Amino acid sequence: MDEYDTDDYEKASLSLEFESRQKYLDELRKQLDVLNDPINKIGSDILIEQAREWYRIGHTIKGTAPILGMSRMGRVAALFAECWEWSYETNGLAGDEVQNLFQDCYLASRPLLHELEMEFEINSKELLLEQQQAPLKEALPSQLLGSRLLVVDDDRVLRSYLARKLRLEGYNVDEASNVEDAIKLLRENDYQLITLDLMMHPQSGYEIFEVLKEDPMIKWLPMLVLSGRNDMKDVVRCFHMGADDFVTKPFRFEDLSARIKRMLLRHMEFALLAFNDPLTGIHNRRYFDLQLQVEVNRAERYNEPLTLVVIDIDYFKAINDRHGHPAGDFVLQKFGHLLQSCLRNTDILARVGGEEFGVILPGITGIEAERIMNRILQRVRREPIAKHDSFDHYITFSAGVASWKSGKSVQSWFQVADYALYKAKRNGRNRVLRTSYDMARNNLADLKLQAVESKTILVADDDRMLRTMISDQFRKEPYKLLEAQDGETAYRILVEQQPDFCILDCIMPGMSGFEVLERLRMEGTRAAKTQIMLLSGRSSEEDVNRGLELGADAYMFKPFSLIDVEMKVRKMLFAVQSH
Ligand code: GH3
Ligand code: MG
Ligand code: MG
Repeated sequence: MDEYDTDDYEKASLSLEFESRQKYLDELRKQLDVLNDPINKIGSDILIEQAREWYRIGHTIKGTAPILGMSRMGRVAALFAECWEWSYETNGLAGDEVQNLFQDCYLASRPLLHELEMEFEINSKELLLEQQQAPLKEALPSQLLGSRLLVVDDDRVLRSYLARKLRLEGYNVDEASNVEDAIKLLRENDYQLITLDLMMHPQSGYEIFEVLKEDPMIKWLPMLVLSGRNDMKDVVRCFHMGADDFVTKPFRFEDLSARIKRMLLRHMEFALLAFNDPLTGIHNRRYFDLQLQVEVNRAERYNEPLTLVVIDIDYFKAINDRHGHPAGDFVLQKFGHLLQSCLRNTDILARVGGEEFGVILPGITGIEAERIMNRILQRVRREPIAKHDSFDHYITFSAGVASWKSGKSVQSWFQVADYALYKAKRNGRNRVLRTSYDMARNNLADLKLQAVESKTILVADDDRMLRTMISDQFRKEPYKLLEAQDGETAYRILVEQQPDFCILDCIMPGMSGFEVLERLRMEGTRAAKTQIMLLSGRSSEEDVNRGLELGADAYMFKPFSLIDVEMKVRKMLFAVQSH
């Protein structure tokens, strides 16, 4: 691994600039010249002075050179200084002893001085080369500054070399030496790119792919694979598993750096398209939904509060109606900006619907979130949200606040916040309402019950077994069920109780299903809302046509699966409900 030089002072040398290195080399030249000066005076006092000066110079180089990345120079200078250290303890030394000592040390230090000269040459040449190559290195685009990268490699030397070089370019870089650490870091931080070594122990880099695939948020993360083997099977396998690029070791850093830059920029463009709302520039629903899960995972792990807010502008339709759609758009943009400016960087804001916004507030309790939203509400009541054609637009909004409760699903969390919003609207709008799971649970159940209970289903069939089976299929949901064992009864119930749905057998004693339909039509007694599905034991086209002509909405043949019946009824009821 000689090609990747890592010295002890790598961190200190990160900030090294060509200019300061050049200045230092100039200074060093002068110091080396002094060391090279011939000695032409003899006399022990003068020799001691000379020795002390050389000691000081050696000592200075030992301290400074490594800071500028010249660590070998520092080590040689230390040895050089050691040679002359005696010059500070010369008490009791006779004149000729000094002379002899000086002579010995002079001989011992000459090769060291020669080495210092060589180091000087090497460093000067390196600097020149780097200066010539510098124009090749593009500056990091400003939008990439501070991007966070994860370098995964079990080779410590290569890993720290890469991390150092990437930091030098302006990235934030984290390092992991094995799959386990990498996964931990991936779960805890937001990275923009990962470089991954394939050949690691005990787990190979492949295992990270599995984790990436599972996690909804990090599966978008650009990944560059570094491999020691240029095996076509590896390459193909990696791309197949989702790698975005593949580089074989050894590589040139410039090559890798250019690839990383390009991937980051492309990914940014992609993310902008996929996760941002073009009108307001803030995140969209897709991003918000993914982020909900990410934040829930984090909150669960650290046991921290987490709160969700859904916001809906009041009477927004009126702005469109009165001032036109562009005015409405303008208000949405301004409101998006206002929300953004009132929130912290760590809060996640998105436009989750037409005039609906969502905010995830990590580390914030429901009560705090309520306070924050009330402050924003006061502000929009006071200040116009937008000026459009010299007209001041004021808005208010309603907001529902719900904090996360451990063990619940993300969907139900959103429902609770949505329920709070619904209550805020019902209670007169222009307000923030907070609700808890427990408060919402009963009410949500009520709401659901109401929605479904209002659907009355009549099952008309002379076969008691069949009638009971169908009824039971619906009884588990809170539908309201009615039964009829013959045509007469069915007709009476249809007229008197006007069910939402009727499952009507074709062949019944007394009055057939067809006859029921006929009579309803003749007497004009069929309720508009009632949908009727005929059941028939014969799959004959004639029957079907007759039934549909008589006003049936659907047809089903025996034998049928109960689930199919349920699905069909549900679908038809729901289609009506959502109009
Ligand atoms: P409420 O107080 O009950 O929320 O009343 P509202 O009028 O705000 O709510 P409603 O859901 O009835 O109407 C929302 C309107 O928002 C309807 C739709 O035309 C409008 N809208 C949705 N998306 C956009 C958009 O992108 N631009 C504009 N200008 N209007 C939009
Ligand atoms: Mg609204
Ligand atoms: Mg709305």
